[in-house]
Amino acid sequence: MAEPIRVVTDSMMGLKLPDYARLSPRVATVLGHNPGPFTGPGTNTYIIGTGSRPILLDTGIGVTKWAELLPIGLRELSRTDQFDRVVLTHAHQDHIGGMRDVTRLFGKLEVCKKPWPTAGPDAAAGIPITEIDDAATVSTDGATLEAVFTPGHAPDHLCYVLREEKALFTGDVILGAGTTIIPDETGDLGQYMDSLRRLLTLDVETIYPAHGPVIRNAKQKISEYIAHRELRERQVLGALRDGPLEVPQIVKKIYTDVPVFLHTAAAQSMRSHLKKLGREGRVEEHEGRWKLR
Ligand SMILES: [Zn+2]
Repeated sequence: MAEPIRVVTDSMMGLKLPDYARLSPRVATVLGHNPGPFTGPGTNTYIIGTGSRPILLDTGIGVTKWAELLPIGLRELSRTDQFDRVVLTHAHQDHIGGMRDVTRLFGKLEVCKKPWPTAGPDAAAGIPITEIDDAATVSTDGATLEAVFTPGHAPDHLCYVLREEKALFTGDVILGAGTTIIPDETGDLGQYMDSLRRLLTLDVETIYPAHGPVIRNAKQKISEYIAHRELRERQVLGALRDGPLEVPQIVKKIYTDVPVFLHTAAAQSMRSHLKKLGREGRVEEHEGRWKLR
């Protein structure tokens, strides 16, 4: 049977999501309103819990419209005016950038995340962070979140299992449509694959992603993500079979179905693939050209 061109065939382009919505008895969402080809309609920020002090998970990029909607969504969806604390999936700007608005609106709240390995990104939050790590639990009325260390997209990335629902907040590890970028500088494709395989072992059915709609068939989606990256890896090796190529040439050969304006982003993921294959001793680079070993 011939290989497909790609496994994950949908994309974030043109997706629409409501300003805010209740998704389950213990999960509601407010849209971050930072739309783009990689963020879809914007970052999903989540209100989690059943009581008067829910948890806020992620804060968007720092958009006025989100800051206006958040207290309205909180009141309408959860009948309260205050959060218990903030939990962050990782320190990319479109997850942490709304912290200043959160502090302005709700005062100084405790902010839990795994620290970024070097100084810098965490400081963007502009507030002290309570350091948490794999297996840490954060709870409020009606909800217990358990952290799962899932590096690869970002070195500080935590997913969170919502125990009461067999649900998983995946941040940017799994998205509601399309695939995620593995940054070639700070990302790590090998770690990312290990993170996906670990998520597959969890007893979860629902995924609440940081971008795009809720996923109800969690295991199938995680399997698709793994298959997608494995396919890309075979495609890279296949593309190099006829001789050495530079990254843009490989991208052009493989991403035939992706609009050209996304090729710069695709090149990042491609370099992550090449880095991983290089470490495994399967490809090597000489003066910007990659070849099989
Ligand atoms: Zn990210």
